[in-house]
Amino acid sequence: MRSETTFDLQYAHRFYGFQGEARYLHGHSGILTIEVEDTINTGVNMVFPCNEIKKIAWSVLKNFDHALILREDDPLLPAVLGVYEKEGIKNGTPTNTMKGCAFDIPLCKAYPDCRLVVTKETMTVEGMIKMVYELLKDKLNIAKISFISGVNKASAEFPVKQERKRCPLCGIMLDENGVCPKCGYRSK
Ligand SMILES: [Zn+2]
Ligand SMILES: [Zn+2]
Repeated sequence: MRSETTFDLQYAHRFYGFQGEARYLHGHSGILTIEVEDTINTGVNMVFPCNEIKKIAWSVLKNFDHALILREDDPLLPAVLGVYEKEGIKNGTPTNTMKGCAFDIPLCKAYPDCRLVVTKETMTVEGMIKMVYELLKDKLNIAKISFISGVNKASAEFPVKQERKRCPLCGIMLDENGVCPKCGYRSK
């Protein structure tokens, strides 16, 4: 069975070099859905607690929220960073507090201090799904990701190979020693 969690992301981007309106910088409210698949954890009668999916995924996804997402070869990138630098906000401000954990993978790199994600490929809905899967596949049993942005929508399914050991008392994943990091339960 699957547990599903939805995320709201506000961001700005453009399709650099694209022949159409999306070549101009613009913004979206995007809706991302992650479906986590596993057996039913009989102790709590659920696959995985949705608030826990939210916590794990949001620590990474925060980087895409109220953020600018630009491709690595986009000339807007040095231009925007130049303005941020002059304004003194490139390395962060005391009011920029909702920052995600920085990541750096072949598909994308996050700069939480200036709310920027630099991507290898154009950030279409398809591109977003590829990035989110790569960023979270080791942390969650992701079976499906959907992303809606404006009139565009895409989804992809992924094979789930392993059953995760979860706490029968609170439902979250046990650590490598079989101990629940939340409630302290120990598997025998
Ligand atoms: Zn767009
Ligand atoms: Zn527990």
